[in-house]
Amino acid sequence: MEKLKEEARRLALDTGIDLMGVAPAERFSKAPEGHRPGDLLRGAQSVISFAVRIPVGTLLTAPNYSFLQFGWLRLNEILNLAAHRLTILFEDRGYISMPMPAARDSGPAEIIREEPDPEIRYMGSFSERHAAELAGLGRIGISGCLITKKFGAHVRLGSILTTAALPPDPLIEEVLCLPEKCGHLCVRLCPWDAISEEGALSHFRCTAGRSGHDIAHYKQMSTLPPLLAASKAMAYTDSGPTTCAICQIRCPMDPRMTSLPEH
Ligand code: SF4
Ligand code: SF4
Repeated sequence: MEKLKEEARRLALDTGIDLMGVAPAERFSKAPEGHRPGDLLRGAQSVISFAVRIPVGTLLTAPNYSFLQFGWLRLNEILNLAAHRLTILFEDRGYISMPMPAARDSGPAEIIREEPDPEIRYMGSFSERHAAELAGLGRIGISGCLITKKFGAHVRLGSILTTAALPPDPLIEEVLCLPEKCGHLCVRLCPWDAISEEGALSHFRCTAGRSGHDIAHYKQMSTLPPLLAASKAMAYTDSGPTTCAICQIRCPMDPRMTSLPEH
């Protein structure tokens, strides 16, 4: 199995992936029912989680036009391609596998509260951030973003589920989110006050703030069948790629940003 894992790693790197890790399916016991690897793929033994970095030059003045493409759209294409290629590799070796979509795999928002203080909740079919943490790629910070040692929060994530029982990677024990050091930067900079110091995220403030939608929009969308809502999201016909991501962009834990050459 070590050999197959290495083969998968090489294929992932060749496809443009920067980080890869493996989590055994048992590590997902605390995930909500219906969202664990075995709920999605019968007999799933492992999750391969992987990350692709956002280029430094894109980040310096982001959000910008470059970020829309190379911090979001193009990176999701790389992640989806890697997920597909890894799935086929495992299938050819006799292990049924399931590629998970990079982003937008959520049904309509659940309406938690209406006016005067609306709240909604989105839940993806599978949490890429938790999978990445459980596969030893990084730790989830107050902003909800995954923070890695090599690229800080400046990564996008993908995964596959597989029936192959691959050797797991160790969890990262080190704390990677340091709010005392950064002064809760993500909380302070969020233009819509969507993040609390305790790490709670208001999905309504974040998505409605960026898109300008009101609660009536989400109520109307909530009548759609889940797969139809997800297909609109994946096709960007309901809303475009994120135009904010300031919580991710400004997180200072990326060592590349502190070692930029002087010009
Ligand atoms: S994406 Fe923007 S609006 Fe949403 S939580 Fe992050 S900083 Fe706030
Ligand atoms: S900006 Fe600071 S508080 Fe927010 S996730 Fe990054 S390190 Fe943590």
